[in-house]
Amino acid sequence: MAAAIADLVHRNCAEDLACRHPFFSDLEKQTKLVSNNVQHASRACVMASFLLEPDGIVVGSMDLEYERLTQINWSKDCWLEPRCIVQPKSTAQVQRIMKIINRTTARFAIRSGGHNPNCGWASIGNEGVLIDLSLLSHVEISEDSLTVNIGPGNRWIDVYKKLDGSGRTVLGGRTPDVGVGGLLLGGGIPSFSSQFGFACDYVRRYEVVLSNGTVITADRKVNQDLWWALKGGGSNFGIVTQFELETVPIDRIWYESRIYEPRESLRLLEAVREYQVAAEADEKASFAFSLSNNHTIVAFIYSAPEAYPAVFNMFYDIPFRQNFIEPSFGTPYSLAAAFEQVLGDRPSFKELREVAPIVRRDALQIQLHDYVWHSTRYFKRNTEKYRSGREPDEFELEARKPAV
Ligand SMILES: Cc1cc2nc3c(=O)[nH]c(=O)nc-3n(C[C@H](O)[C@H](O)[C@H](O)COP(=O)(O)OP(=O)(O)OC[C@H]3O[C@@H](n4cnc5c(N)ncnc54)[C@H](O)[C@@H]3O)c2cc1C
Repeated sequence: MAAAIADLVHRNCAEDLACRHPFFSDLEKQTKLVSNNVQHASRACVMASFLLEPDGIVVGSMDLEYERLTQINWSKDCWLEPRCIVQPKSTAQVQRIMKIINRTTARFAIRSGGHNPNCGWASIGNEGVLIDLSLLSHVEISEDSLTVNIGPGNRWIDVYKKLDGSGRTVLGGRTPDVGVGGLLLGGGIPSFSSQFGFACDYVRRYEVVLSNGTVITADRKVNQDLWWALKGGGSNFGIVTQFELETVPIDRIWYESRIYEPRESLRLLEAVREYQVAAEADEKASFAFSLSNNHTIVAFIYSAPEAYPAVFNMFYDIPFRQNFIEPSFGTPYSLAAAFEQVLGDRPSFKELREVAPIVRRDALQIQLHDYVWHSTRYFKRNTEKYRSGREPDEFELEARKPAV
């Protein structure tokens, strides 16, 4: 009986939310009496469960999957408990969800990979609906491998894996499990940024569901202003359901990552300064630097199969505790897989991140050093997470060419 009603509602109302089926009229009458955000969200969840299933998925707090899905966000601060989580499987379902959101005026948040650490960006509490795009995870490579269509719900490592062996790759996250959607909408700093620039520079076309539920594309010729705005302008222009990316010719590369004792941090910061000058002349070099009170991790990446390139000479003689990743020849995918292996299921924590176009010698490096020590002590003293003995903050330095 329930299935028959659901089927009837679906057939009558899926394409026209203004349908006058008694189920919806009653629902609207009831919720108008107590009209607050939770009610709006509840109404949206009920409507979605009728209008999306069995294709799309709606998960409520009583469902087994609910807890796991609320804890996907990278930062524990963002483990909120939405009224329900909707997981569209197609652009058409995203359109339908937006129509439901409009009709119910429910609050909502959009999540691709959930790596953004700002609470409330890709997470929402009981007063709203979380639109989780993780099932939009297609990767379609063109015959000549020059372009690839990808869904926002992919993790970067999965995209690199699909392209592995083609002699080409895409520019995406350096950390393997960062999501596609948020990174590309925020600009995106890839491993090979000195050579190629931002990840968003390589988006040829966006497919976007606007807030009224219509779907449009944006590229260099059609909706150019939106195409321009989406390249780093953030997430408030619509829900991107597909990115068409240009690939770049990177295949065999070299990489290594080392862990250093804290006593080496000042020497390492001096090496960072020297490296920035050297890297001006060698755009194949890429570098990651993560400093904490316990250790410093440095990764050396070179976009050609050349071991120990001279551009990193200033680091090689600094004593290190052990390798984080062994020196290797590989591909962008094997690099991501190596990081995935050592990072594992990393606990969520807060981070301090800085982009330094140029590290000035005395003042800045000492300031950075002091900043890390004092701020991690501050966090340790003042937050529950650190009082309970979690890992302290890390400080990450992005050293890259000023032009980028
Ligand atoms: C451990 C770690 C490593 C990182 N490494 C890198 C790196 O190497 N390079 C780099 O550039 N950045 C990096 N970042 C930053 C990361 O790119 C951003 O936090 C990015 O927002 C995460 O993408 P996501 O898909 O996981 O985003 P989410 O957290 O899912 O979303 C981020 C924001 O974008 C919105 N959004 C997501 N998808 C869509 C969509 N399809 N349409 C409309 N809006 C959408 C969300 O609503 C939210 O506001 C890293 C972050 C962490 C925590």
